[in-house]
Amino acid sequence: MNDNAYPSSLELLVAGQWRGLAGRDSLPVVNPATQQEIGRLPVATDADIDEALAAAQAAFESWSRTSAWQRAAVLHQAARLIDARRDRIAHLLTLENGKPLADAQGEIDRVLEALQYCAEEAKRAYGRILPPRAPLLVQSTVKRAIGPVAALVPWNFPVFLAARKVAAALAAGCTVVLKPAEETPAACVELVRAFVDAGVPPGALNLLYGVPARISQRLIASPVIRKISFTGSVPVGRLLATQAAQHLKPCTMELGGHAPVIVFDDVDVDKAARACAAFKFRNAGQVCLSPSRFYVQSGVQEAFTRRLTELAKALRVGDGLLPDTQMGPLQNARRLEAASRLVEQAHGEGARVETGGGRLGRQGFFFAPTVLSQVPASARILAEEPFCPVAPIVGFDTFDEAIAQANATEFGLAAYAFTQRLDRAAEFTERIEAGWIGVNSFTPSLSDAPIGGMKDSGLGYEGGPEGLDAYMHIRFISQANA
Ligand code: NAD
Repeated sequence: MNDNAYPSSLELLVAGQWRGLAGRDSLPVVNPATQQEIGRLPVATDADIDEALAAAQAAFESWSRTSAWQRAAVLHQAARLIDARRDRIAHLLTLENGKPLADAQGEIDRVLEALQYCAEEAKRAYGRILPPRAPLLVQSTVKRAIGPVAALVPWNFPVFLAARKVAAALAAGCTVVLKPAEETPAACVELVRAFVDAGVPPGALNLLYGVPARISQRLIASPVIRKISFTGSVPVGRLLATQAAQHLKPCTMELGGHAPVIVFDDVDVDKAARACAAFKFRNAGQVCLSPSRFYVQSGVQEAFTRRLTELAKALRVGDGLLPDTQMGPLQNARRLEAASRLVEQAHGEGARVETGGGRLGRQGFFFAPTVLSQVPASARILAEEPFCPVAPIVGFDTFDEAIAQANATEFGLAAYAFTQRLDRAAEFTERIEAGWIGVNSFTPSLSDAPIGGMKDSGLGYEGGPEGLDAYMHIRFISQANA
C-alpha cells in the first residue's frame, strides 16, 4: 500500500482496542476536491459508547494519579511520533479536508506546539497555601483533574482542534472520549494512534465516530463524564450546553464567529488589503477567526475594494495536493450551498459582486474567492456566519458608526482593525466585543494564549493556563494535627 494512501476502512478506539467496520453500520468519507468516496467509517454502537465510557472511568483512577511529569513525558513522545509521521498525516488531512498540503503541514506544526505547551504547563498546576486561621493548621488549595471528558470537534482544523482538547485534558490528568467530525476522520485516527504508541494507557483516550447527536447525548447523560468540551457551531453548542446544564456539568464552548474588520482611512491600503486577503481566504474562509465583514472608511473604500478584488482574483484555487494551489475546495456540499445562497441573497439585497460569486467547475466543492461591495447593513451575510471565501464590504464614515455595526451581531469571537493612529487602536480594543483582537495583524489561535468568545461565540477558554484550568477542579483542604 502506498504510504500516503487513504485507508479504505477506518477505525474507532474503545478501551485500547481498535474496532473496524465488522458488525457496524458505516458512513462514506468523501474527498471534497473530487467528490469521490475515499474511505468508510464505522458507526459506533451504543455498546461501543458504553464501553468507551467504562474504560475512561477505569483509566481515570491511575492516569489522574500519574505525576504531571510522567504525563508530560508521554505527551512529548506523542509529539515526536506525530512529527515523524507528519507527511502522511498532512496528506490524509488534505485528502479529507481539501486544504492545501502546506496548510495541512502548518496544522501539524500547531498540533506539536499544543502538545508541547500542555505537557509543560501542566507541571505548573500549583495550588495555594492560605494564611492559617490557627497555629499548626495547614490550609491550602490544590488543583485536581476534573474527571473523564467528552470532547467534540469540527472538520475545519480537525487535527489541531482535537489535539488541543486531548493534550490539555490528558496533561491535566483527565481521560477522554473524543468524537471528531465524521467528514474528516483519518487524520484524527493517526493523532490518536500517536498518543497510544507514545504510552497513553488503554481507556485513557477513546475515539468514537457515528451519529453525532446519539453519541453526544449518551456521553453527556452518563455519570462518568464530568466535563464537556465542544468546538463547533452555535446551534449545536447551544444544544449541548442545554444538555450539560440538565446534568449540572461544566462545559467549554468554542463556537462560531463572524469577525468584523474595520479599515480606517489612514492605512497603507496595499498592506492592509494583502493582510486581509491572506487571512480571509485561508482554509477557503472556513475558519472561526476568519475576517468575514469588512467595514471600510469612505476615504479608502474604493482603493481597498479594488486591491482586495485584485488579490482575490489572483488566488490559485485547486486540489490541495497540487503544489501551486493556494486555496482548496469547501469541505462539504452544505458549505457550497450556503456560500451560493449568501451571495445570491446579498446580490438581491443590493450588493455588487466585484469578483467570484459562484461555484467553480462541476466536480469538487470549489467556490470562487469572492468580494462583494456596497453591501447594505441589513444584508443577511452580515448577520449569518458565512464560513466561506466571501468578503462583504460595507462603507462607513465615523468611528462610532463602525464600532456600532461591528458589535451588532450575536457573535463575539474575533475582531480586527487597521489604522496607524494609536487613539483609534486604543478605543477599538476597548469598545469592541470580541475575545480575540487584532490591530494591523491577524493571528491564528496560539497554544499559550486563551481563546474564548463573548456573547453567542462561546463559554470559557482554550489555550494558555486558562485552557488547562478548564480540566481541573480546585479543592480546599484544611488539615490540623490530630
Ligand atoms: P457543527 O456544530 O455542525 O459540528 C461540530 C461537531 O459537533 C462535530 O463533531 C459534529 O459531528 C458534531 N455535531 C453536529 N451536529 C450535532 C448534534 N446535533 N449533536 C451533537 N453533536 C453534533 O460545526 P461544523 O459545521 O462542523 O464546524 C464549523 C463551526 O465550528 C463554525 O461555526 C465555526 O465557527 C466553529 N468553530 C469554532 C472555533 C472556535 O475556536 N471558536 C474553532 C473552529 C470552528
